[in-house]
Order: sequence, then C-alpha cells, then structure tokens
Amino acid sequence: MEPSYILQIHSGSFQNAHTDFRQIKNKVENILTKKKIKAVIFGWHLNQSLNQSILDFFHSKNIACYFWLPVLSEIDLIKESKTITNYTGQKGQNVQVIEDESFSFLCPTDLRNYNHVCDLYQEYISKLDFDGIFLDKIRYPSFANGYEEGFGCFCESCENEYKKYGIDLDYLKDLFMKHDDKLLDGQYDEYGRYIFKDATVDLFYQTRAHIITEFIGNLCDYFHSQDLKVGLDIYAPFFAYHCGQNIYELSKKADFLKPMFYRFTTAPAGMQYEYDAYKQYFKNSSYFDLAPISLTSLEKQCHFLKKAKCDVYPGIEINPIEHICSTNKERFIENKTFFTKYFDSLVCCWNCLLMNKDIKESL
Ligand SMILES: [Zn+2]
Repeated sequence: MEPSYILQIHSGSFQNAHTDFRQIKNKVENILTKKKIKAVIFGWHLNQSLNQSILDFFHSKNIACYFWLPVLSEIDLIKESKTITNYTGQKGQNVQVIEDESFSFLCPTDLRNYNHVCDLYQEYISKLDFDGIFLDKIRYPSFANGYEEGFGCFCESCENEYKKYGIDLDYLKDLFMKHDDKLLDGQYDEYGRYIFKDATVDLFYQTRAHIITEFIGNLCDYFHSQDLKVGLDIYAPFFAYHCGQNIYELSKKADFLKPMFYRFTTAPAGMQYEYDAYKQYFKNSSYFDLAPISLTSLEKQCHFLKKAKCDVYPGIEINPIEHICSTNKERFIENKTFFTKYFDSLVCCWNCLLMNKDIKESL
C-alpha cells in the first residue's frame, strides 16, 4: 500500500533562519498535490511571521502542523542553561558536526532546564495555531560526543538521583575508566530495552531512562494541557535505550514516536555512526556485535516498536548531504519498501528542503 507521509522541514536554528516561506512553498507544493501528506513538522526558527505564513499555507490544505522544538540541547544558545557534567567532572563539550546546530547537551534533572522549554513555548509559539509539538533531542549525549559524555550527567543533582536508587558510583566510574566489557555485555528484551548482565550497570541505565521519561513525560503533560498533540524524536530502537530512551514508557506519554532510522547518515543519530562511535572504545570485545543497518536487524527493531502504546512513524532519510548523508533513490526505495511492510506512514527526514528530484519522484 502507498504510505502517507509526514514532511520534516528545517526552517533554521533559534537565531538564524535558513530559508523563507517562498522556498518552502516552492519545494513542497507539487508533493502536496500528488501524495497523501499526514502532517508537517517544521522548526525551530522562532520568527513569528515566518511561522505564521507556513502555518497558514499548510492549514489551507488541511495539513496538521507540529512545531519542531529541541529540548535538551540548542536552548543553551538563547537561555542560560545548565550543561551536563561528565563522570570525570568536566563540563560538556560543544560538538559541532552540522553547521549552526549545537550538539551540546543539558542536564535532565535541572528544573531550570525544564522551565526553559515551557517558557520558550509561551514566548514564541503559544500565540500561533499549531496542532502539536515535536520534541527533539530528548536524550543524553551519545558516544558521538566522546566517551566521557556518552555516560551522561554526573552533576551533584544527577549523582544524588543515582545514589537514591542505590547505585555504587565508585564501582561504576571504575568500570568507565577501565573501558570494562561489563559496559557492553547484555541482551535486548522484547521491548527493546538492553538488559545489562552487571547489576550496577543495569540499574544505572534503568535510572537514566527513568530520569528522561520523567522529564519528557512531564513535558508531554504540559503540552497536552495546552491542547497540543506531542510527537517525540527517538533514536533507532537498537540504540535508544543506550541514550536514555525507554521507547515503551515514552510511548505511553506521547501521541506518536518518530524513530530515526538513519541508515546512511555519518553524523549524530546515524545508526552505523553511533554504533561505531560506541564500539571503538571497546576494541577487543565481542559483546554488542551488531549490524544495525542490516535488514535483519531492522526487522528486530521494528518488532520492538510493535509494543508501543502510541502511533509510530519511522523516520527515513530523504536529504542527501555530502559527507553527512549518503542516501539516494535506490536506498530510499529500499527503505520505503521495507518500512511500509510494518507502518502506514513515513516521516521524510530530516529536511525536505534538501530532498533531491530522484527521491521526490520516488515518494
Ligand atoms: Zn545533571
């Protein structure tokens, strides 16, 4: 069956517009006449008149609009935020892989960081007639931010939270320092959670996921109270839990999930890229040996998503970008054919303005 599509459009960073209304209209207008478009996700530039024009355009075609809002990153560029502290006590580094996009991460137990998201919504978005909000960067940094950051936040408030759950931090940090295989050894359960064999490591990962679910779950409640639907950007299932995302628990709070099945991206969230960034620190270990972008692995990952309590729309790459995303028509068609076996709707990621002609004709 022909899928319906959700179009994701990057309008710019908080501070800089990367496009204008005319460009967006020109790029998508003929897709709208030919394909079934379920919704549009755009952001995260904050200019109200730009956002109003885009909204009016899609609403005139009866297409629902979600504002794309980064949560635990990017906001530090416009509001004084608390960044994460890694386990060695160092403050988070700013990793810049894609121009004008920050990959520095914020502490998820800090109330001020939470309030910034609501304040930003109230200041810039609440007066516009959005149908929903799409929350992005709802996780800990991955190993793409470096080994030390890959384990998340160890500020005083986060350490207190870990201690509350009985985690032996000295033991854990010793494993980090030794690059111990216990940090890899385990297996997936039927929900896609990775159950570590070592009890302390497992408790640590459970606690991280709990912290993220609470932070994001509260935001879902907040946005629902504003009469908005909520979509969540999550990692591909094989790695979501490693970044603090418990897919099943998050699915109880959201209206839809968009797992980033980025098979051909060599930047954060790229599946092979993230896998390699993690495994490189455990060179001699045979634990966690996967081929995450293979169709066999994808099948298993789709199976995890079947447990979700909300809709799931897989995100697939449609924007070839030199040195960053090597998708093409054949790869797009392979993805489309594969994912439509499991799902009715696909998200065109992550920026439809960069969709090439070949892929556009293959939608
Ligand atoms: Zn923290």
